[in-house]
Amino acid sequence: MSYRQARYDEPLIFEMEGENDFCLMNDDEVNVPEGMVRKELCLPEVPEMEVVRHYVNLSQMNFGVDNGMYPLGSCTMKYNPKYADKLSSLPEVTSVHPCQDEDSIQGALCLMRELEKALCAISMMDAVTLQPAAGAQGEFTGMLIAKAYHADRGQTRTEVIVPDSAHGTNPASAAMAGYTVIEVPSGQDGCVDLEALEAALSERTAAVMVTNPNTLGLFEKDIVRMAEMVHAAGALLYYDGANLNAIMGTTSPGTMDFDIVHFNLHKTFATPHGGGGPGAGPVGVKKFLEPYLPVPRIVSDEGRYRLDYERTDSIGKVRSMFGNFAVLVRAYAYIIAQGGDGLKETSQRAVLNSNYLKSKVVAAYDMPFAQLRKHEFVVSARRLAKEKGVHATDVAKALLDRGFMSPTVYFPSLVEEALMIEPTESESKDTLDRYAQALLDIAAGDPADIKASPRYTSVSRVDEVYAAKELILSWRIYQRKAGLK
Ligand SMILES: *Cc1c(COP(=O)(O)O)cnc(C)c1O
Repeated sequence: MSYRQARYDEPLIFEMEGENDFCLMNDDEVNVPEGMVRKELCLPEVPEMEVVRHYVNLSQMNFGVDNGMYPLGSCTMKYNPKYADKLSSLPEVTSVHPCQDEDSIQGALCLMRELEKALCAISMMDAVTLQPAAGAQGEFTGMLIAKAYHADRGQTRTEVIVPDSAHGTNPASAAMAGYTVIEVPSGQDGCVDLEALEAALSERTAAVMVTNPNTLGLFEKDIVRMAEMVHAAGALLYYDGANLNAIMGTTSPGTMDFDIVHFNLHKTFATPHGGGGPGAGPVGVKKFLEPYLPVPRIVSDEGRYRLDYERTDSIGKVRSMFGNFAVLVRAYAYIIAQGGDGLKETSQRAVLNSNYLKSKVVAAYDMPFAQLRKHEFVVSARRLAKEKGVHATDVAKALLDRGFMSPTVYFPSLVEEALMIEPTESESKDTLDRYAQALLDIAAGDPADIKASPRYTSVSRVDEVYAAKELILSWRIYQRKAGLK
């Protein structure tokens, strides 16, 4: 066994043996569904040093933004400055409890109120709720707000229009809120086809969800016209703000006449994103929709902050307590540290890096919709697939062996063999050059060699569908499940 293999053969903590292993038994009646109750939890009693080595080894079997470039399109996997982590780890943040008396959490309420104001200024919206825990939950909140608004006006609108380039959460959120999803195709230029939009709009349309720049990295050039069309039909215009990284300080959803927007604090505003960790998906609205925002609202009376639950038109609560507070602290710290000019420069650099990298890789990859991009771009491995049998997946796996995370692949689905690359503003020119070189080397490489990747990761290729459905965490567990041992 090589050194690398040995390091990758880290057992699970449950598989380790200590001197005084012990089990915690749960004899109490607990109010959770049958089958979800853990009757016992057995842990090995291993020395501190073993525990430290165990988790450090596990962390090295993974790849993260602190290991290397991670240009996962649409996900904005940028470097998150450590000062934001440090501030969110202060005892004033970690020890505060949401059930404390308002008088004892004035600082926390002040921070949240100030963050709301900052997000209003960035988006040019009038009011913000910080409650939703993710982008998708922000979308769902936005859809409930649209529903409450139309109901108030005595209208039953049953449809939500979503472009075919949208993130999968858009149609899912609309459907969860009870709407029928109408998909509109993109035109030749990769932007929403206005004729198709016109044909889809009707008195049944509750909202149109738009991502701008869209997931191809293209700015919807007809957005002003689109907003007019949507509003003329009596519908609301929803902005998927996961990609706000592209436009801060240059334009905003409010300027483009959007009515509702969600932000992904864990993409744009310095929270490590991925691994299912906590996020935050605040929602901003124009003044006329403010009454529908979730309760409680943070209000200030003569310098004292309090929580207002007395909002008769509110859609209610969408999440327990006030949201993911530590994530809000990180975002606030980041916004304050950057300042308005810093945020603008962040977006400008994100766009510059994306176009720079694009210009280096177009020699070997097809470029559908060949205009200037915003924070991300999509190329196609179509030619490689046809000529050499090397698919987008193979390119992704070969990148892992070269020390880089792969881009997002096979999304958006309107591009065949899509590689969706978002370098983010935080990468240096040198790193971008090395990434581009890796992509060019892979395109020029021996197909058999590329298809044998990855060779140097903790696991090689897995059956992704099976792996998602059947959690097998180690080869020992696999052996047991397969009856081999
Ligand atoms: C990430 C993303 C979402 C969903 O955000 P989550 O926080 O992952 O739920 C929605 N739309 C776009 C364009 C995204 O990139």
